[in-house]
Amino acid sequence: MLQLNYDNSFKKLCVVGSPINHSLSPKIQNFMIQKLNLPYCYLSFDIIGSDFDKYIKACETMQFVGCNVTMPHKQNAYNICDEVFGDAKISKSVNTLFYKNNKWNGFSTDGDGFRLSLLDIDENFKDKTILLIGAGGASSAIAINATKNNAKQIFIVNRDLNKAENIIKIIDIGKAFYFDIKNLKNLAEKSDIIVNCTPLGMVKDFDDFSFLDVSPKVVCDLIYSPPETNFLKYAKQKNHKTINGFDMLLYQGMLSLEIFTDTTFDKRAMKKDLYSLFK
Ligand code: NAP
Repeated sequence: MLQLNYDNSFKKLCVVGSPINHSLSPKIQNFMIQKLNLPYCYLSFDIIGSDFDKYIKACETMQFVGCNVTMPHKQNAYNICDEVFGDAKISKSVNTLFYKNNKWNGFSTDGDGFRLSLLDIDENFKDKTILLIGAGGASSAIAINATKNNAKQIFIVNRDLNKAENIIKIIDIGKAFYFDIKNLKNLAEKSDIIVNCTPLGMVKDFDDFSFLDVSPKVVCDLIYSPPETNFLKYAKQKNHKTINGFDMLLYQGMLSLEIFTDTTFDKRAMKKDLYSLFK
């Protein structure tokens, strides 16, 4: 059970999105804040899209030092930034807003969060061929990060090919390609790491994962609830090395907290502690 013993000097952080009820960020962030003995508290706000600018003004007035941003505000967050750093510069999407010297600084920690989760299973992007299924925000974040970290090739498959093409355009390298979904099996065979960046596998009676009938790969599903989707179950049965999106969630949160508080901490140790919170 979390106990918040904060006083008026504590600095304020939050997450903004809509809907926000399901968000684990307040639980994760307040746990880390307590563990690290930091003078902060972390709240959540359900704000609809058209109210985002008003919300930002309110944060300034109420002296929030930072906020995490989730759907549907990541592009809005990018637009209000005075300066944008790292992956967020390319994705034009921000999940971490840090208010300093009357300026909003924007970051995206999703790609690095995913990369750190791979490192924990002794995997990385370097010289690897990555197959991304889906072309939304998460896919784009991973494509950008994989490019930066010297992936050999990136394949993106999506229903809406325009979205896949748009990611290739922002990466702007000659080693990223997009394909129609019917090419999945062929692409899966050529890949080292396969990442499901769609809600596929959540749906109970969707069971055509036969494109995973290939030699062993690293297979990731960004979904963490349920911890094992049908997609991951199938991948496990086919002897692939699997990982869900829970560690990515934890790591992107840890990276945000480091930005907010200008500290660094042992993230692997913190991950262990966070696991005990969710036991
Ligand atoms: P998003 O921007 O809305 O993109 C969703 C993607 O899924 C799109 O490419 C969409 O295809 C595809 N899609 C949706 N329904 C589909 C269906 N029935 N069949 C085939 N494709 C379908 O969402 P996102 O932010 O990228 O998130 C993607 C997934 O990753 C979600 O499940 C989310 O919960 C998870 N996620 C996890 C973390 C984490 O920390 N673990 C972080 C971010 C996201 P179209 O473009 O063709 O519509």
